[in-house]
Amino acid sequence: MTASFATPSSAGPNFTTRISRFAPSPTGRLHLGHAFSALAAHDLARASGGQFLLRIEDIDPTRARPAHVDGIITDLGWLGLTWDGPVVHQSQRLALYVAALDRLKALGLAYPCFCTRAEIAASAAAPHGPAGAVYPGTCRRLPAAEQARRMAETPYAWRLDMAAAMARTGPLAWHDHAAGSIAADPLAHGDVVIARKDAPVSYHLAVTVDDAAQGVNCIVRGADLFAATDVHRMLQALLALPTPAYFHHPLLVDAAGRRLAKRDGALPLAELRATGTDPAELVAELRAMREALGFILPSA
Ligand code: GLU
Repeated sequence: MTASFATPSSAGPNFTTRISRFAPSPTGRLHLGHAFSALAAHDLARASGGQFLLRIEDIDPTRARPAHVDGIITDLGWLGLTWDGPVVHQSQRLALYVAALDRLKALGLAYPCFCTRAEIAASAAAPHGPAGAVYPGTCRRLPAAEQARRMAETPYAWRLDMAAAMARTGPLAWHDHAAGSIAADPLAHGDVVIARKDAPVSYHLAVTVDDAAQGVNCIVRGADLFAATDVHRMLQALLALPTPAYFHHPLLVDAAGRRLAKRDGALPLAELRATGTDPAELVAELRAMREALGFILPSA
């Protein structure tokens, strides 16, 4: 399945059979940026005779929609991308995440957090990290009795005590195809949420558990998730999971240089399809764009 390595060499891990995945969140329609990402993950796996997996990251109960899942499958089929094995849905795998959370709790590295977003934003002490405000640690050292009382009364998330986690693992590194060996800085993210108030897991924990459980050894995704990899590397170390090779790709931008994102109304693939775009030509253009951006994938 996967190979693991403790400290990546500057050349990075070399997996002969690459297992990659496309892992969209069904919170909107796919646009060109998604097609670029899915195609890169697909091509990387296929060039090595490996596997390309499709995982639907539908753990957000307020934003995930079944109609978008159907849209994703139709769009990928239209592009001519095929995946191996069944489509995996994170919403069906909650027990796996709960087991990982339990392990982190048993290590004494998880604590319940009762703070609201507004409280965290209002905290003058909250410094900024790679993903916005860093949690100021308000609930980190609550007396046990107060913790128990509040858990019975108020909704709560679980956070990872990052300083304690770092003390346990020591320095960590991972490898990015373009950027080389990266010294992880999970502390810059602070005590990240590992289980949400409204879901038994967070993105960071679910993605780390699933990539390991599915044997994914090459992660192709946008550069917007580059910094988050430091957190994933930490979770891999704590949960004794292998570390994949990472291929963070440049993000596609529009004519004004703005990143394509569904919230900005980037042209959905469904619209390109409806207006008669030839998918084979689009795929060829996306591959050419990949070269033009200097994101060159290993051929085997
Ligand atoms: N589900 C995430 C997204 O749609 C991607 C997760 C990942 O590739 O690690 O943004």
